[in-house]
Amino acid sequence: MRIVVARRLSQAFFLLVFLWFCVVATVGDALWQLRGWPINWLLSLDPLTAVATLLSTGTLFAPLVWGLAVLALTLFIGRFFCGFVCPLGTLNQLTGYLARRRATTEARVADNAPSRAQGIKYVLLAFFLAAAALGSLQTGLLDPLPLVFRSVNLAVLPLVDPGRLGIHGEGRFSDGAWVLGLIFLAILAGNLWRPRFFCRFLCPAGALMGLATRLVPWRIGKADAKACGTCRRCEAFCEGACRPSGEITVSECVLCLNCLDACPTGRIGFAPRPSACGERALPDFSRRGAVFTLAAGALAAPLWRVGGASALGRDPALIRPPGSLDEARFLARCIRCGQCMRVCPSAVVQPAVTVAGAAGLWTPALNYRLGRAGCLQNCVACGQVCPTAAIRPFSLEEKLGRGDFAAVGPLRLGTAFVDRTRCLPWAMGRPCIVCQEVCPVSPKAIGVVTVFEPVAGGAVSVTDARGAALTLAGAPATGRNLGSGDYFLRPLGLPDTAAVRVVSLAGVALTLEKPLPDLGQGRKAEIVVRLQQPHVDPARCVGCGMCEHECPVSGLRAIRVTSENESRSGPGRMLA
Ligand code: SF4
Ligand code: SF4
Repeated sequence: MRIVVARRLSQAFFLLVFLWFCVVATVGDALWQLRGWPINWLLSLDPLTAVATLLSTGTLFAPLVWGLAVLALTLFIGRFFCGFVCPLGTLNQLTGYLARRRATTEARVADNAPSRAQGIKYVLLAFFLAAAALGSLQTGLLDPLPLVFRSVNLAVLPLVDPGRLGIHGEGRFSDGAWVLGLIFLAILAGNLWRPRFFCRFLCPAGALMGLATRLVPWRIGKADAKACGTCRRCEAFCEGACRPSGEITVSECVLCLNCLDACPTGRIGFAPRPSACGERALPDFSRRGAVFTLAAGALAAPLWRVGGASALGRDPALIRPPGSLDEARFLARCIRCGQCMRVCPSAVVQPAVTVAGAAGLWTPALNYRLGRAGCLQNCVACGQVCPTAAIRPFSLEEKLGRGDFAAVGPLRLGTAFVDRTRCLPWAMGRPCIVCQEVCPVSPKAIGVVTVFEPVAGGAVSVTDARGAALTLAGAPATGRNLGSGDYFLRPLGLPDTAAVRVVSLAGVALTLEKPLPDLGQGRKAEIVVRLQQPHVDPARCVGCGMCEHECPVSGLRAIRVTSENESRSGPGRMLA
């Protein structure tokens, strides 16, 4: 088999595995969904994630050993990951190939000429590694695997299946998904200008692996330096723009192996010796720029903290998924892959746009308004899929505070607060008990205090009373549905008489639930509304957000969860 056919088969395999893992990362009853699939395996292969989390946390999450293994193999054979494995690399290569099917050799050679801009990725790598060393993990913004997972999970799949194909049940919405989609589109469109545009100029993981090829024994090169004519077929098909016909830039070779296949004379090979035409270790780029960026990366994390752009300054609206580490450790681990967002059955885990600060862009934050519900009591999915344990695995027992966890209590995401200026029973004199009804914890964390308040326009005069059927002098002008069960009639001037529920009102005929003995002809009475005003018990509230999601006050909800009392920040001082 030709070596490029093997490479293409490998690329197709990993691309299909990637797509399959994206599709199956949903919670549901179907056989193919979530259970048992190693959906993080590809993310674990990422050497940049392994190195950067090692720098930012000082530890290596066990599955990321795969990433170090990839880096170790790169030391011996070069960037095989870029050529044979990376799904984003494959998509880039495919787009570039489709765009150039009719291009002439001259045009292809021009497109594949080495460029100083290939040094940009090394500068970006310097920035990301310096920031990681100081505790701010930003690699996920451009690291190809988190980037492609995030883009496909949050933008492409919801676009392909708006809810009818059954990939994830109902349609999904993600905050700012259009930006993620546009970035992904721009990355693919870049291949129209240069093949593997992202890989050549922007990919920090490619830069890391490029650096790892400094002493690589096996590499592409020419066996002899004799002139080989003018065909330049190797350069016409070189995906890495590393000039295989002359002085080759070893770090830029993505092992597409097209040159081996295209060379009509067999002068190019993959061998344990330097190329006879000479080699360069790295592309030309400004070393001063790299040093400057290294310093900028080192300064970024402290500056973010000082300037409040990091979530460590803490917007109380920032609610992380259950099982999340405390904020500093979370930001040192999260690679913004979007796996937790994809898997959440209620789609309540959303990419943070502003709530987590600039340093937390696209990290997961719960948005109870955008989700289909709050955080579900019987779900532990997000803790099972995080590839870096920024959200650590947790059990249902732990989440609910049962069994071995009874002493510590449930995992709390925050606490719900009633906004009395927006709550219908508190501020508007309108009955509502939705939040209390939907609160899923037992006993409920929301209790109500019942009060009766007179309704504007509810003063009436009784002209006739036969049992529970009354005739009024005139219809009350309350503008409300008095038969809803929340309205009562109370005689005026008899404070000790209990109000009786109104069953119906038709014109001036008013029917009560039972007779009101003190109401005779000519008696004045008033319509009162029964209001059940909600109170949150912070000792019971787990911050699941069901109440916020269901609150009928659209826009800014009248009950909102903020991060007070969240488990990940230690014992809640609010209750002390
Ligand atoms: S535990 Fe909650 S936030 Fe996490 S996936 Fe399940 S419902 Fe979503
Ligand atoms: S917290 Fe979510 S987005 Fe961050 S690394 Fe884990 S799964 Fe990916």
